Amino acid sequence: MARERLYLFDTTLRDGAQTNGVDFTLADKLTIARMLDELGIDYVEGGYPGANPIDTEFFSKKRPLRAKLTAFGMTRRPGRSASNDPGLVTLLDAKADTICFVAKSWDYHVRVALETTEEENIASIRDSVRAAKAKGREVLLDCEHFFDGYKAKPAFALACAKAAYEEGARWVVLCDTNGGTLPHEVERIVGEVCGQIPGDHVGIHAHNDTEQAVANSFAAVRAGARQIQGTLNGLGERCGNANLVSIIPTLKLKNEYAGRFDIGVSDDALSHLGRVSRALDELLNRAADRHAPYVGESAFATKAGIHASAIVKEPATYEHIAPERVGNKRKLLVSDQSGRSNVLAELERIGLAINKDDPRVTRLLDEVKDREAIGYAYEAADASFELLARRLLGKVPHYFAVEKFDVNVEQRINAKGVSVTVSQAVVKIKVGDEELISVAEGIGPVNALDLALRKDLGKYQSFITGLELTDYRVRILNGGTGAVTRVLIESSDETGDRWTTVGVSPNIIDASFQALMDSIVYKLVKSGAPA
Ligand SMILES: [Zn+2]
Repeated sequence: MARERLYLFDTTLRDGAQTNGVDFTLADKLTIARMLDELGIDYVEGGYPGANPIDTEFFSKKRPLRAKLTAFGMTRRPGRSASNDPGLVTLLDAKADTICFVAKSWDYHVRVALETTEEENIASIRDSVRAAKAKGREVLLDCEHFFDGYKAKPAFALACAKAAYEEGARWVVLCDTNGGTLPHEVERIVGEVCGQIPGDHVGIHAHNDTEQAVANSFAAVRAGARQIQGTLNGLGERCGNANLVSIIPTLKLKNEYAGRFDIGVSDDALSHLGRVSRALDELLNRAADRHAPYVGESAFATKAGIHASAIVKEPATYEHIAPERVGNKRKLLVSDQSGRSNVLAELERIGLAINKDDPRVTRLLDEVKDREAIGYAYEAADASFELLARRLLGKVPHYFAVEKFDVNVEQRINAKGVSVTVSQAVVKIKVGDEELISVAEGIGPVNALDLALRKDLGKYQSFITGLELTDYRVRILNGGTGAVTRVLIESSDETGDRWTTVGVSPNIIDASFQALMDSIVYKLVKSGAPA
């Protein structure tokens, strides 16, 4: 049976940009657009030309993409002609392949927000679609609040959608703008709409306010819709939009959809999905969601001993898909619950395979258990575990020694009479016979220590230039006077690899120092620095 084509529309750069704390530069937008294009998204919505200088500039020239670059904007204002509405004129002049209009489809909004009549709202839809078609553009109409509108007054909501379709809009997109509609409602309403407008002209735009945006998107497809709108990582205001990073693998790998539909994302592009998801987080300077379906670091992580031994024998026993297909990997957590099979599998993964009866396996397991009892967390700190294992096997060269460090935090009044806090660190290290002293100031004591440690490693300096600290997390364990501090540091380097190291001490600076040291040594081992 021939498979039907299902289209993907990404609105990370428009609806996603509405998110609190998200502020894309023009360069960010171009990077994300290229990433989406390589992924195989059919439509990339770039923004709202005329609404702000960055979006206006984004659409000021033709961008070489395979995807259809889409400009977003309003239908003509009530009481004006299409040619006499400056907003619409700007939108029609944008260098875009496709224009996506947004229009009201809820009578309540037409009355209260737009303060116009239902007839004028429909006339505005018709005129705007016609004007964009006359400019040779493909047209979409986002029917805002469609589901609430349909529940309140189905004939009017449908009339808005049909007006656009009759004027030649390629897609009529049903938006759950408030995000409160439930999957069974979406399925029923989309089914009714598809009785009036062919499903291959109907799209779904779901928000995640009941955590069902992905489910709502699939409900719409089941009812006949053939375009899904969403964003990378579900980025979007409030609780976000439908997450394309979850939707794409489901469409590609679950037979109910894979057997019926083709999408623009190839198997090869799918295998880079994890990287795409992390690249967006990186651009936003956010830590990736470890528990994200398909692409999260924990999506294929297993902790308990019996599961781990079964997974090593037969991965399908505990995995719903093969992690490699979406650019992820299986992870067996090494923790105090784990058995020998976890440790052995983890050693094999990092290329330190040893015989399963080797007594060093037991010693490593005991060491992990002892250290976890005092606060270390190796399941969260893969790089520190690897170093622990390598040290036990005698595979970590002695690169350098820290002879002493000194961190100092000073609050003082500066020349402008303002109270400022300044942190400074001095680190004395020995590389071979060479003694090196580095001093650095930082925004806090850990930052100063990090900068001083990495300032001059002598002959090893060239191996760590790409090293960057990307996340720093502190937890105080077991409260009271017996409290210890656990520090987890995430680092990355020029190859895009990330790793996490851990330090534990009653003193936060000392705990941070251990984690920083592990990170540097791990980077030296990883880069093959000579002893
Ligand atoms: Zn939206």
